[in-house]
Amino acid sequence: MANLIWQNGALKPFEQATTHVMSHALHYGTGVFEGIRAYEQADGTIAVLALKEHIERMFVSADPIAMKIPYTREEVCAAVVATVKANELKSCYIRPLAYYGLPPTKVRVRPDPKTPIEVIVYSYDMGDYLPDVALDVKISDFIRLHPQSTAVGAKICGHYVNSLQALLQISGTKYNELIMLDYEGYVAEGSSDNLFMVKDKVVYTPELGTILTGITRQIVIGLAQDLGYKVVETKIKPEELYTADEVFFTGTAVEVRAAGTINDKTIGNGEEGPITKHLKTEYLKICRGQNPKYNHYLTPVK
Ligand code: PMP
Repeated sequence: MANLIWQNGALKPFEQATTHVMSHALHYGTGVFEGIRAYEQADGTIAVLALKEHIERMFVSADPIAMKIPYTREEVCAAVVATVKANELKSCYIRPLAYYGLPPTKVRVRPDPKTPIEVIVYSYDMGDYLPDVALDVKISDFIRLHPQSTAVGAKICGHYVNSLQALLQISGTKYNELIMLDYEGYVAEGSSDNLFMVKDKVVYTPELGTILTGITRQIVIGLAQDLGYKVVETKIKPEELYTADEVFFTGTAVEVRAAGTINDKTIGNGEEGPITKHLKTEYLKICRGQNPKYNHYLTPVK
């Protein structure tokens, strides 16, 4: 099978897609990226989920670090489709990345305006990112980035040092995922996913401001409303999670996953609850083109 990376306008073999060690992004985390999934449809074709939404977020993420991506949104979308197609992948994960490359002068925090912006797209078979079980979850000692420290809604490479350090704390333990609180002590999000809570059939999720603007979060909010659930975006205290009927995560990689325990306290009956299951099933139908109302989210790979 082919293993090609799209780099600055052309597909090339994996081994040849290299970059310079003095690239600005390597020193300062100055890149923006996306995580996208493509799904095999019922008829055997492949479609990319929420491609336009992801590439739009990539461009919005570039703003706070003054990065001008040297392609149009349409060109980056086309690069994604071309990469999936060239790699002959079926369901897969796609990683576009734009970053400050090798500056023409000495590397320093504020990049020389002539620093090239490099863009790559890679795609690979990911499978499940988290096991398809009710997860054991830990509330992290690490808090999510402060909104006055960085543009927290953006998917900037350097932000993931925060997620990594939180993840390292639970590695080697029984915990599958963590929840980070925000600087005020409210529930923010997971290491690579947004959080929802269900209480008395109402679906709650932390409001935007201290979390990534999740695209799965947005799809699931719309889906839940369509299915007749009331959805409330609000501040959630960590102790409210313990008495919730259900808690679940959403994200491109994780899709929809229930929390079975949080800090060793059982949520609901400790299994994937009925509303989580309902939303997960319906979300996967959208991914696989089985809900015509949501077909606008799908870009065919032809
Ligand atoms: N929060 C964080 C910190 C993430 O890394 C991700 C994954 N992109 C999400 C939430 C979920 O976002 P999305 O649904 O757009 O994948």
